[in-house]
Amino acid sequence: QRNLWWIRDDLRTVDNAALSQACADNAEVVAVYLSAQQSWGEHDMAPIQADLIQRRLQQMKPILARLNIPLVVREAQTLTGQRETLLSLCQQWSVAGVFCSQAYQWNEGQRDRQLALELAGRGVEFHCLQDACVLAPGTVLTGSAQPYKVFTPFRKRWLERLQLAPLTVRPEPAARTAPSAIASEFTALAYPLKDSTAWPVDDAALSHKLQAFCQQRVVDYQQDRDRPAIDGTSGLSPYLALGMLSPRQCLAALTLAQPDCWEVQESGAFAWLNELIWREFYRHLMAQFPRLSRAQPFHGWSRHVAWRDDPAGLARWQQGQTGFPIVDAAMRQLLATGWMHNRLRMIVASFLTKDLLIHWQHGERWFMAHLIDGDLAANNGGWQWAASTGTDAQPYFRIFNPTTQGQRFDPDGSFIRRWLPELADVPMGEIHQPHRWPGAARLDYPPPMVDHSQARRAAIETFKAAKARG
Ligand code: FAD
Repeated sequence: QRNLWWIRDDLRTVDNAALSQACADNAEVVAVYLSAQQSWGEHDMAPIQADLIQRRLQQMKPILARLNIPLVVREAQTLTGQRETLLSLCQQWSVAGVFCSQAYQWNEGQRDRQLALELAGRGVEFHCLQDACVLAPGTVLTGSAQPYKVFTPFRKRWLERLQLAPLTVRPEPAARTAPSAIASEFTALAYPLKDSTAWPVDDAALSHKLQAFCQQRVVDYQQDRDRPAIDGTSGLSPYLALGMLSPRQCLAALTLAQPDCWEVQESGAFAWLNELIWREFYRHLMAQFPRLSRAQPFHGWSRHVAWRDDPAGLARWQQGQTGFPIVDAAMRQLLATGWMHNRLRMIVASFLTKDLLIHWQHGERWFMAHLIDGDLAANNGGWQWAASTGTDAQPYFRIFNPTTQGQRFDPDGSFIRRWLPELADVPMGEIHQPHRWPGAARLDYPPPMVDHSQARRAAIETFKAAKARG
């Protein structure tokens, strides 16, 4: 029997449900990756993320060759192109079964439903396996079998459910008989690429990064995770977003290094576990509320928010020229590195949607276009949380003060100085409000583009009016 493993956002050979099942019964296996230049562009995929994918595929090629699994990488342009290419490859290679990891986005789901029908019509089995979450969407439900809409009860139920599900990490499959007359082929991605080499892609480096974090830095995660100047978080998001690491691998490494992480809720290990559960929460929401992947808000009333149309303001936010140092340093970090610290994502998202009252979708798109860890579920969830159109349990008057956030989380301004060299001469006491420094006129740095107190009041009025309209 010959099977096809369709690689998607599960770029790994270890702990991969689709690959393991494709390899069952000693089947011959061909691995296929289909890039989709046009669809990626329509969904603003960041060139740095595309580069990471290309480097990872190149790295996987010899690993798969050792297993006698040819890797075929082709350009399919669109989701429809992927479906058509798949059908034709199945016919050409006489494939018995297609195995892949289930996608939770709406368009991808539609493509898969159609593909399943077409494959069935040709006698080919289609196995779309839940592998992107520890617990499958639809398995963490309220007492009345409804999806959770708020995080804390979801987490409680998730932890209870996990006790019932043994945590197993699948090994890499064994080498098998090579399929005859199918050679590996590698079509370079046609998408624009931006250098991602700051992020290693080999399994040894990933495994070391995960284990070193779980053994050492996780202990101080609770204190350090909100300090952007400190390397206090795992930095694993690009790998989790593309499935280069599975969430089960993360949990297994955490449990091994910190066996009591489940019990001590004040520990760094539990705080990190909490973030992995946030990741699951947003994926479950995306699977259960299709409107989230169709550019709609979670809360219907928020459709009435009178967002401001302000292209110049948006451009200043995008380029890190708002006059609020913590916001600008964060936006410059994103432009330069393709990554941004979580605390800063919350601050800049609050600033765009509350201080500037610019629609969260502009921010969501800008993030996707630049993030190396761009992930529809986490990004949409994070933006809607910050904009109060999503699942935040707090109402819309959660509005971060960008100055006090900077003072609190970058107290000595060292993160700001790293990304805003034009503020090098500003003394520590003025670094969060450089316009107040007597030498401000000499600075090549703008004054604050809004008065935060006024902007805050305006945002509250605008949200209140939207909510009143229902
Ligand atoms: P750690 O603190 O080490 O956390 C471990 C892992 O947990 C992360 O790698 C990530 O997979 C997951 N995680 C952590 N926090 C969250 C969270 N709040 N929501 C969902 N998953 C989380 N994360 C993305 O992976 N892709 C995105 O596109 C993305 N966009 C975001 C947009 C906004 C507006 C906000 C507020 C958050 C966004 N996040 C996104 C979540 C979070 O900021 C990043 O996952 C985190 O900064 C990654 O750094 P880390 O790997 O060091 O995280």
